Amino acid sequence: CGIVAYVGQQEALPIILKGLRRLEYRGYDSAGVALLNEKGLGVYKKKGKVSELENFLSSNEGLTSKIGIGHTRWATHGEPNDVNAHPHYSSSEKLAIIHNGIIENYEVLKKDLEKRGYQFQSDTDTEVFVKFIEDIYVNNDCSLEEALRLALHKVVGAYAIVLINKEEPDTLIAARKGSPLVIGVGEDEYFLASDATPIIEYTNKVVYLDDYEIAVIRNNRLQVKTIENIETSPYINQLELEL
Ligand code: GLU
Repeated sequence: CGIVAYVGQQEALPIILKGLRRLEYRGYDSAGVALLNEKGLGVYKKKGKVSELENFLSSNEGLTSKIGIGHTRWATHGEPNDVNAHPHYSSSEKLAIIHNGIIENYEVLKKDLEKRGYQFQSDTDTEVFVKFIEDIYVNNDCSLEEALRLALHKVVGAYAIVLINKEEPDTLIAARKGSPLVIGVGEDEYFLASDATPIIEYTNKVVYLDDYEIAVIRNNRLQVKTIENIETSPYINQLELEL
Protein backbone atom coordinates (compact mmCIF):
# COMPACT_ATOMS: atom_id res chain seq x y z
CA CYS A 1 0.00 0.00 0.00
CA GLY A 2 2.70 2.50 0.96
CA ILE A 3 6.28 2.64 -0.35
CA VAL A 4 9.25 4.64 0.92
CA ALA A 5 12.88 4.12 -0.10
CA TYR A 6 16.08 6.09 0.32
CA VAL A 7 19.66 6.10 -0.96
CA GLY A 8 22.14 8.85 -0.15
CA GLN A 9 24.43 10.23 2.53
CA GLN A 10 21.93 10.34 5.41
CA GLU A 11 20.77 7.57 7.72
CA ALA A 12 18.06 5.73 5.83
CA LEU A 13 16.00 4.27 8.68
CA PRO A 14 14.69 7.50 10.29
CA ILE A 15 13.80 8.90 6.85
CA ILE A 16 11.96 5.70 5.91
CA LEU A 17 10.05 5.44 9.21
CA LYS A 18 9.00 9.09 9.04
CA GLY A 19 7.91 8.55 5.44
CA LEU A 20 5.87 5.48 6.36
CA ARG A 21 4.10 7.50 9.05
CA ARG A 22 3.29 10.17 6.48
CA LEU A 23 1.65 7.45 4.36
CA GLU A 24 -0.39 6.02 7.25
CA TYR A 25 -3.47 7.90 6.01
CA ARG A 26 -3.67 5.39 3.14
CA GLY A 27 -4.49 2.61 5.61
CA TYR A 28 -2.43 -0.57 6.23
CA ASP A 29 -2.14 -3.68 8.39
CA SER A 30 1.64 -4.26 8.66
CA ALA A 31 4.92 -2.44 8.16
CA GLY A 32 8.51 -3.35 7.41
CA VAL A 33 11.93 -2.20 6.25
CA ALA A 34 15.03 -3.67 4.61
CA LEU A 35 18.41 -2.10 5.33
CA LEU A 36 21.74 -2.80 3.66
CA ASN A 37 25.10 -2.27 5.35
CA GLU A 38 28.46 -4.03 5.71
CA LYS A 39 26.76 -6.70 7.86
CA GLY A 40 24.38 -7.61 5.04
CA LEU A 41 20.81 -7.12 3.93
CA GLY A 42 18.43 -7.22 6.90
CA VAL A 43 14.63 -7.40 6.74
CA TYR A 44 12.54 -6.30 9.73
CA LYS A 45 8.75 -6.46 9.60
CA LYS A 46 5.73 -6.59 11.87
CA LYS A 47 2.00 -6.85 11.74
CA GLY A 48 0.40 -3.70 13.12
CA LYS A 49 1.28 -0.06 13.23
CA VAL A 50 4.52 1.66 12.24
CA SER A 51 4.95 2.36 15.97
CA GLU A 52 5.04 -1.41 16.59
CA LEU A 53 7.71 -1.81 13.94
CA GLU A 54 9.67 0.98 15.65
CA ASN A 55 9.44 -0.81 19.02
CA PHE A 56 10.63 -4.01 17.37
CA LEU A 57 13.54 -2.17 15.71
CA SER A 58 14.62 -0.54 18.96
CA SER A 59 15.65 -3.98 20.27
CA ASN A 60 17.91 -4.50 17.24
CA GLU A 61 21.42 -3.19 16.78
CA GLY A 62 23.38 -2.33 13.68
CA LEU A 63 20.59 -0.64 11.78
CA THR A 64 22.83 2.09 10.42
CA SER A 65 22.50 2.22 6.67
CA LYS A 66 22.59 4.78 3.88
CA ILE A 67 20.20 2.77 1.74
CA GLY A 68 16.90 1.10 2.51
CA ILE A 69 13.32 0.33 1.54
CA GLY A 70 10.14 0.45 3.63
CA HIS A 71 6.53 -0.60 3.17
CA THR A 72 3.10 -0.46 4.74
CA ARG A 73 0.98 -3.38 3.58
CA TRP A 74 -2.71 -3.58 2.84
CA ALA A 75 -3.09 -7.35 2.47
CA THR A 76 -4.60 -8.70 -0.74
CA HIS A 77 -3.00 -12.18 -0.85
CA GLY A 78 -2.35 -13.78 2.52
CA GLU A 79 -3.64 -12.67 5.90
CA PRO A 80 -2.02 -9.78 7.75
CA ASN A 81 0.84 -11.28 9.78
CA ASP A 82 4.61 -10.84 10.28
CA VAL A 83 5.60 -13.32 7.56
CA ASN A 84 3.29 -11.88 4.90
CA ALA A 85 4.44 -8.32 5.64
CA HIS A 86 6.91 -6.73 3.23
CA PRO A 87 9.82 -6.55 2.37
CA HIS A 88 10.17 -10.07 0.97
CA TYR A 89 13.52 -11.74 0.39
CA SER A 90 14.42 -13.65 -2.75
CA SER A 91 15.56 -17.29 -2.31
CA SER A 92 19.24 -16.39 -1.89
CA GLU A 93 18.24 -13.50 0.42
CA LYS A 94 20.41 -11.26 -1.75
CA LEU A 95 17.39 -9.31 -3.00
CA ALA A 96 14.50 -7.77 -1.13
CA ILE A 97 11.36 -6.24 -2.62
CA ILE A 98 8.53 -3.98 -1.57
CA HIS A 99 5.38 -4.08 -3.68
CA ASN A 100 2.10 -2.23 -3.93
CA GLY A 101 -0.57 -3.87 -6.03
CA ILE A 102 -1.53 -7.35 -7.15
CA ILE A 103 0.21 -9.92 -9.37
CA GLU A 104 -2.78 -11.62 -10.98
CA ASN A 105 -0.92 -14.58 -12.49
CA TYR A 106 1.13 -15.35 -9.36
CA GLU A 107 -0.34 -18.85 -8.98
CA VAL A 108 0.94 -20.00 -12.38
CA LEU A 109 4.36 -18.48 -11.70
CA LYS A 110 4.44 -20.02 -8.21
CA LYS A 111 3.57 -23.52 -9.45
CA ASP A 112 6.33 -23.36 -12.02
CA LEU A 113 8.89 -22.19 -9.44
CA GLU A 114 7.74 -24.88 -6.97
CA LYS A 115 8.21 -27.56 -9.64
CA ARG A 116 11.79 -26.41 -9.88
CA GLY A 117 12.37 -26.66 -6.13
CA TYR A 118 11.54 -23.16 -4.92
CA GLN A 119 10.02 -22.88 -1.46
CA PHE A 120 7.77 -20.14 -0.15
CA GLN A 121 7.45 -18.76 3.37
CA SER A 122 4.51 -16.45 2.84
CA ASP A 123 1.14 -16.60 1.09
CA THR A 124 1.79 -13.43 -0.89
CA ASP A 125 1.92 -12.75 -4.60
CA THR A 126 4.88 -10.49 -3.79
CA GLU A 127 7.18 -13.30 -2.63
CA VAL A 128 6.47 -15.08 -5.92
CA PHE A 129 7.35 -11.87 -7.78
CA VAL A 130 10.80 -11.44 -6.19
CA LYS A 131 11.68 -15.14 -6.53
CA PHE A 132 10.59 -15.04 -10.17
CA ILE A 133 12.85 -12.02 -10.80
CA GLU A 134 15.80 -13.73 -9.10
CA ASP A 135 15.23 -16.91 -11.07
CA ILE A 136 15.64 -14.93 -14.30
CA TYR A 137 18.61 -13.03 -12.81
CA VAL A 138 20.59 -16.16 -11.91
CA ASN A 139 19.73 -18.08 -15.07
CA ASN A 140 20.58 -15.31 -17.51
CA ASP A 141 23.94 -13.72 -17.15
CA CYS A 142 22.44 -10.21 -16.99
CA SER A 143 22.01 -7.18 -14.78
CA LEU A 144 19.23 -7.09 -12.20
CA GLU A 145 17.37 -4.41 -14.15
CA GLU A 146 17.51 -6.56 -17.26
CA ALA A 147 16.15 -9.53 -15.27
CA LEU A 148 13.39 -7.28 -13.92
CA ARG A 149 12.61 -6.06 -17.43
CA LEU A 150 12.26 -9.64 -18.68
CA ALA A 151 10.15 -10.56 -15.64
CA LEU A 152 7.78 -7.65 -16.22
CA HIS A 153 6.96 -9.02 -19.67
CA LYS A 154 5.60 -12.16 -17.97
CA VAL A 155 3.83 -10.58 -15.02
CA VAL A 156 0.13 -9.69 -15.22
CA GLY A 157 -1.31 -7.21 -12.78
CA ALA A 158 -0.56 -3.92 -11.10
CA TYR A 159 2.56 -2.97 -9.27
CA ALA A 160 4.81 -0.32 -7.88
CA ILE A 161 7.98 -2.02 -6.66
CA VAL A 162 11.40 -1.21 -5.31
CA LEU A 163 14.23 -3.75 -5.27
CA ILE A 164 17.39 -3.66 -3.19
CA ASN A 165 20.36 -5.90 -3.99
CA LYS A 166 22.96 -7.00 -1.43
CA GLU A 167 25.61 -7.02 -4.16
CA GLU A 168 24.98 -3.40 -5.17
CA PRO A 169 24.92 -1.18 -2.07
CA ASP A 170 24.57 2.02 -4.12
CA THR A 171 21.59 0.89 -6.19
CA LEU A 172 17.79 0.93 -5.98
CA ILE A 173 15.67 -0.37 -8.84
CA ALA A 174 12.00 0.55 -9.19
CA ALA A 175 9.18 -0.07 -11.62
CA ARG A 176 5.51 0.66 -11.93
CA LYS A 177 2.36 -0.24 -13.74
CA GLY A 178 -0.99 0.91 -12.43
CA SER A 179 0.26 1.90 -8.95
CA PRO A 180 1.88 5.30 -8.43
CA LEU A 181 5.57 5.85 -7.74
CA VAL A 182 7.34 9.17 -7.24
CA ILE A 183 11.11 9.73 -7.25
CA GLY A 184 12.51 12.62 -5.22
CA VAL A 185 15.77 14.00 -6.59
CA GLY A 186 17.90 15.53 -3.85
CA GLU A 187 21.53 16.62 -3.65
CA ASP A 188 23.46 13.36 -3.76
CA GLU A 189 20.39 11.48 -2.58
CA TYR A 190 17.20 9.97 -3.95
CA PHE A 191 13.85 9.15 -2.43
CA LEU A 192 11.11 6.86 -3.72
CA ALA A 193 7.55 6.91 -2.46
CA SER A 194 3.95 6.10 -3.38
CA ASP A 195 3.17 9.80 -3.32
CA ALA A 196 5.14 12.98 -2.70
CA THR A 197 4.16 13.46 0.98
CA PRO A 198 7.22 11.63 2.42
CA ILE A 199 9.55 13.47 0.00
CA ILE A 200 8.59 17.16 0.09
CA GLU A 201 10.43 17.99 3.30
CA TYR A 202 13.72 16.97 1.64
CA THR A 203 13.38 18.12 -1.96
CA ASN A 204 10.85 19.77 -4.27
CA LYS A 205 12.26 18.06 -7.37
CA VAL A 206 10.27 14.99 -8.29
CA VAL A 207 9.97 12.61 -11.20
CA TYR A 208 6.69 10.74 -11.68
CA LEU A 209 7.49 7.32 -13.02
CA ASP A 210 5.16 6.25 -15.84
CA ASP A 211 3.55 2.87 -16.39
CA TYR A 212 5.95 0.34 -17.91
CA GLU A 213 8.99 2.30 -16.81
CA ILE A 214 11.95 1.01 -14.83
CA ALA A 215 14.05 3.45 -12.80
CA VAL A 216 17.60 2.60 -11.85
CA ILE A 217 19.28 4.76 -9.24
CA ARG A 218 22.91 3.72 -9.22
CA ASN A 219 25.98 5.54 -8.01
CA ASN A 220 23.97 8.74 -7.48
CA ARG A 221 22.52 8.80 -10.98
CA LEU A 222 18.96 8.19 -12.17
CA GLN A 223 18.30 6.32 -15.38
CA VAL A 224 14.80 5.52 -16.67
CA LYS A 225 14.00 2.95 -19.34
CA THR A 226 10.77 1.50 -20.63
CA ILE A 227 10.23 -2.23 -20.39
CA GLU A 228 10.95 -2.24 -24.14
CA ASN A 229 14.47 -1.13 -23.17
CA ILE A 230 14.18 2.39 -24.55
CA GLU A 231 15.86 5.05 -22.44
CA THR A 232 13.65 8.04 -21.60
CA SER A 233 14.77 11.37 -20.17
CA PRO A 234 12.97 11.81 -16.86
CA TYR A 235 11.10 15.12 -16.52
CA ILE A 236 11.88 16.81 -13.22
CA ASN A 237 8.83 18.59 -11.79
CA GLN A 238 9.30 21.43 -9.30
CA LEU A 239 6.74 21.05 -6.53
CA GLU A 240 5.50 24.12 -4.74
CA LEU A 241 6.29 23.57 -1.12
CA GLU A 242 3.56 24.26 1.39
CA LEU A 243 5.39 24.14 4.68
N1 GLU B 1 -0.48 -7.93 -2.98
C1 GLU B 1 0.53 -7.63 -2.01
C2 GLU B 1 0.24 -8.35 -0.72
O1 GLU B 1 -0.84 -8.73 -0.43
C3 GLU B 1 0.71 -6.11 -1.78
C4 GLU B 1 -0.45 -5.44 -1.08
C5 GLU B 1 -0.23 -3.93 -0.93
O2 GLU B 1 -0.39 -3.21 -1.94
O3 GLU B 1 0.06 -3.47 0.19
O4 GLU B 1 1.14 -8.56 0.04
